Amino acid sequence: MENLKTKIRDITDFPKPGINFKDITPLVQDPKTLRTCVEKLIGPYKNTQITAVAGMEARGFIFGSLVAWELGVGFIPLRKPGKLPYDVQKVDYDLEYGQASLEAHIDAVNPGDNILLIDDVLATGGTAKASCELIEMLGGNIVACAFVMELGFLNGRQQLVDYPVHTLLTY
Ligand code: AMP
Repeated sequence: MENLKTKIRDITDFPKPGINFKDITPLVQDPKTLRTCVEKLIGPYKNTQITAVAGMEARGFIFGSLVAWELGVGFIPLRKPGKLPYDVQKVDYDLEYGQASLEAHIDAVNPGDNILLIDDVLATGGTAKASCELIEMLGGNIVACAFVMELGFLNGRQQLVDYPVHTLLTY
């Protein structure tokens, strides 16, 4: 796992002062590390009844698609407002400062789908919690939420007490 950490770059004060941004582009650029990361993400779910993977825009698309591919299931993109072309279900949620929303197509989830939610970073947990709510509004069942890393000091897990949470790295 330490090897994974060497491929995550800290960018201070991005996108705004006070944020230490965890840049995963060196990780996804390196084929060996990328494969290790995806294998570790799918590890607990290889022999489970996951029927779909959902991922949040934008870095959740990278890891989520690869996890879906490896598990042999489809991928559900959860997008920022106004990006999806068909009818959508929307969820609004609070950020530290302000509000955000996520959308999914109304037919993105098959009834009873067992869904693994994937993103790169678990920070405050607001995005992941809203994503779980969105999937549930559409009739899906969240089996677990998995992240490449969690920022433990932000206590994102507290938002996700109703779901199993799996992270590869903790900061
Ligand atoms: P949160 O809702 O606070 O858990 O934020 C999670 C979302 O914001 C994820 O989609 C992350 O990709 C992104 N994010 C939050 N904090 C960081 C950070 N320090 N570095 C990189 N991405 C972050």
